[in-house]
Amino acid sequence: MSNLNPQTVTAVHHWTDTLFSFTCTRDPSFRFDSGQFTMVGLDVAGKPLMRAYSIASANYDEELEFFSIKVPDGPLTSRLQHLNCGDSVLIGKKPTGTLIVDNLLPGRVLWLLCTGTGLAPFMSVIRDLSVYDRYDQIVVVHGCRYTRELAYRDYITQTLPQHEYLGEEIRRKLIYYPTVTREPFLNMGRITDLIENGKLFTDTGLPVFSTERDRVMLCGSSAMLRDARALLDARGFEEGNQSVPGHYVVEKAFVS
Ligand SMILES: Cc1cc2nc3c(=O)[nH]c(=O)nc-3n(C[C@H](O)[C@H](O)[C@H](O)COP(=O)(O)OP(=O)(O)OC[C@H]3O[C@@H](n4cnc5c(N)ncnc54)[C@H](O)[C@@H]3O)c2cc1C
Repeated sequence: MSNLNPQTVTAVHHWTDTLFSFTCTRDPSFRFDSGQFTMVGLDVAGKPLMRAYSIASANYDEELEFFSIKVPDGPLTSRLQHLNCGDSVLIGKKPTGTLIVDNLLPGRVLWLLCTGTGLAPFMSVIRDLSVYDRYDQIVVVHGCRYTRELAYRDYITQTLPQHEYLGEEIRRKLIYYPTVTREPFLNMGRITDLIENGKLFTDTGLPVFSTERDRVMLCGSSAMLRDARALLDARGFEEGNQSVPGHYVVEKAFVS
């Protein structure tokens, strides 16, 4: 287990019967960039059972936070969902990932488009003050099936704007746009449909995507990523990575 550090669970919060978050202690040597993921898991019968997890906490927080699905028969999450404070979790020592602002060309508006647990990396990004230095506007678009799945909604709309250090920037620059597909709500529809029909731009008061101004991070299901990629490519956006920064970057929220 040389690539793994055991850490202690400090809090667990169940959002719904399919979603939960937990925090754990953080090794002082563990460094990451906002938006990255690492391996998270449990010791099962003497062997590490590990899965990729985006880090939801800010990179300056003393603890690490993760936002997780509960897959009923999932090898890891069928166990992980029963975590309690004081339990041990294994954390990979080498965070990585493409959803970092350095992989994007300079721009003015940063769009964080996500579905389900794809919100996790963006909870870290929107708590990073340096991101607010780079952009005039940051827009979190979170798509779910039901409103109860809009985890962190109150935290983003009520708590973050009052944050001691981030509050002012958040009040000035952060737009939160939740949307659901399976029940009546303030905003309804798939993210890609809301882009295609222009509703996302009308509702947020921002101009339609342009390669000069807009930068996009995508994290969600394979279907959402496929459709969003096609839509951005058709508008002349180019995907960035560690070697060549681009107009947008992509990470799967899970492997289907
Ligand atoms: C780069 C990356 C980052 C990830 N970050 C997160 C994260 O922050 N939070 C998180 O919960 N998961 C995340 N995942 C998925 C995670 O690695 C595991 O798949 C998940 O924890 C379920 O593990 P499991 O062993 O219980 O089931 P698995 O055998 O891993 O998955 C079983 C099936 O469940 C479905 N599934 C798995 N994860 C999800 C999910 N997040 N949302 C919807 N359906 C899913 C898929 O259909 C999958 O085939 C990430 C995956 C990748 C590749």
